[in-house]
Amino acid sequence: MVIIILGGGFAGLAAARKLAVLQGNHQVFLFDKNSYSTMLPSLPDAAGGRMPPQFLKEEIARLLPEGIEFKNENVCLVDLENRFIKTEKNQYCFDYLLFAAGSTSNFYGFNQSLERLYTLTTLTEAERIREDFAGYLYRAPHPHLVLSGAGYTALELAGNLSFAAQKSQKTLRITLAERAPDFLPFLSSSQKERIRRYIKRMKFDLKLNDFIEVFDGRNVRLHSGAEFEDVFFCWTAGTKFAIPQIIGKMDLLADGRIVVDECLRAPQYDGVFAAGDSAAMACGGGYLRKAVNFAIYSGARAGDNIVRSIRSKRLKPFRAVDLGWVIPLIDDSVGVVFGKIPVCGRLGLRMHYFMCGYRNFNWTNRRRFFQFSLTL
Ligand SMILES: Cc1cc2nc3c(=O)[nH]c(=O)nc-3n(C[C@H](O)[C@H](O)[C@H](O)COP(=O)(O)OP(=O)(O)OC[C@H]3O[C@@H](n4cnc5c(N)ncnc54)[C@H](O)[C@@H]3O)c2cc1C
Repeated sequence: MVIIILGGGFAGLAAARKLAVLQGNHQVFLFDKNSYSTMLPSLPDAAGGRMPPQFLKEEIARLLPEGIEFKNENVCLVDLENRFIKTEKNQYCFDYLLFAAGSTSNFYGFNQSLERLYTLTTLTEAERIREDFAGYLYRAPHPHLVLSGAGYTALELAGNLSFAAQKSQKTLRITLAERAPDFLPFLSSSQKERIRRYIKRMKFDLKLNDFIEVFDGRNVRLHSGAEFEDVFFCWTAGTKFAIPQIIGKMDLLADGRIVVDECLRAPQYDGVFAAGDSAAMACGGGYLRKAVNFAIYSGARAGDNIVRSIRSKRLKPFRAVDLGWVIPLIDDSVGVVFGKIPVCGRLGLRMHYFMCGYRNFNWTNRRRFFQFSLTL
């Protein structure tokens, strides 16, 4: 049997560890366009220069167990009807396939001067922001950061770039344009109030019911008519499924995630599974949010279920355990742990960076994050 894992992030690596038990006539390949895995939750820190990029990454080849072959190739197409994948270099057939390729930026049809705006879904993008923002701060007479969206990525990035500007002793104006009438709708009213106070303290200009209508590579015009010149524009309005092209018919959510059954199979195709951000996993009438813990546990379950399927054993359902979430802001945080215990302030910040350490890919980086969490 040939088993292909698409993506060497949290889900793909967890699956690979389970699939390593296969021996004999089986070949397991893991494909990733990068040679390394990334601690994505710390991208805003890397973009703002608070975390050096090397703290966030580790070579995939060093993380894979014996028996799994790493292919450092970009997957452009998956043909489920004819059961092969295509990379920029080659074509590979599979018997089993696991989608674990994570997310990429969702532009929702926006296509103006994309090469001049900044996104934050990979370490390369974070490094590009860090380098270009430093140059922008240096040359722009009135630096103005504009972000599309007011979700957690936008708030975290705004905080980190504001921190970078302060360090350079520059005054930075920050505008967040959010299309919806409200921000972070899943927060409780007290958490929202806390974030509102943070936004006020940081002097962010939050524009609700508004969005970027025109971007010419330098200037933006909002739907409300406001115009800003010479801005640093970051697109943080949402994410979507990462593989560019799929041939086949599957149930997909609007953001491209594959709707899987409780054993993480794409029910339309035998031997095709999805985990992590690639999968829409049903939960309480909706779908699980995208998060590191769910990616790790669903990846492990999908890997184990592929082994079980090959050995003709009964597959096991994926039961998500929600350990909680924290939104780390520069000097504050909001979050919930173990289902319903609210956390905030420095405690939440410490928990976030401790988890970034705990879930990191090697001991050096774990130690670096643990130490950082103690400085907060
Ligand atoms: C800025 C930001 C902040 C976040 N903060 C948090 C947080 O605080 N807490 C939390 O729990 N979650 C957070 N998340 C979400 C979390 O990082 C994801 O849910 C998690 O990384 C998903 O794991 P995954 O394995 O599915 O995908 P990923 O970790 O994204 O791994 C996917 C892998 O697939 C590879 N890949 C993608 N496309 C291709 C292709 N075409 N060909 C080959 N390889 C490909 C990528 O290079 C990558 O290595 C954050 C995400 C972002 C972007």
